[in-house]
Amino acid sequence: MTESSVRSKIRLVLLGAPASGKGTQGQTLAAELGIPKISTGDMMRAARDAGTELGKLFDGIMSQGKLVPDDLVIRLVDERLAEPDAQRGFILDGFPRTVPQAEALDQLLASRGASINAAVNIATPRELLLERATLRRTDVRTGQIYHLKYNPPPDSAQLVHRDDDREETVRKRLDAYDAMTAALVPYYEGKGLLRHVDGVGSPVEVGRRIRSALSELTDGVSPNLRGGANEG
Ligand code: AMP
Repeated sequence: MTESSVRSKIRLVLLGAPASGKGTQGQTLAAELGIPKISTGDMMRAARDAGTELGKLFDGIMSQGKLVPDDLVIRLVDERLAEPDAQRGFILDGFPRTVPQAEALDQLLASRGASINAAVNIATPRELLLERATLRRTDVRTGQIYHLKYNPPPDSAQLVHRDDDREETVRKRLDAYDAMTAALVPYYEGKGLLRHVDGVGSPVEVGRRIRSALSELTDGVSPNLRGGANEG
């Protein structure tokens, strides 16, 4: 099998509660695989920053830690997956978040002759998630995500703290995750697509576990993906 045909098969869902490391891991993995990381949260924040009507609606919902209605999110993802770069494969971060979203995703991929080939669940204890989110910062210029305690930013970084990473909102987002998104674990398990990964540890350690969980999909794609980026 050629490298590009292996790569074209990678359509991955990253599952995990807010601050489980989905964004960081998805970003690294997508860069290594040469496929886009598609984050519905990033798309909504971009719409908010652009000041569109839809962006204002998203902002109101996000700042309360609630979920945006399924039909709006599904429409966003449908349009994004139709773009040329997503034809090579993709990593979904923060979508699907409900069972109806997962079903809609399966349907829209099936209509294009495609399907999800793995879902990685990054499992992390709630207290650690709270600490991570409240100390998380993003460099506005590079989009790089840092943690003030575990992954400190360089002095040159221009840091912002996401509004919805404030403690009270994080608690609501974790509740929404438990109420709606945790159901996706049995959904993908039932399809034989789920891989569990322990989310406790440094980004490098968790990244290594994800690569190992996906090795049969990614073997032959990139030497960096075998056994972790820092190992031969
Ligand atoms: P995230 O960056 O993935 O943590 O998403 C930030 C916020 O955007 C969430 O707390 C929700 O308000 C909203 N959001 C992002 N993705 C979705 C989704 N798939 N379904 C519903 N709401 C979403």
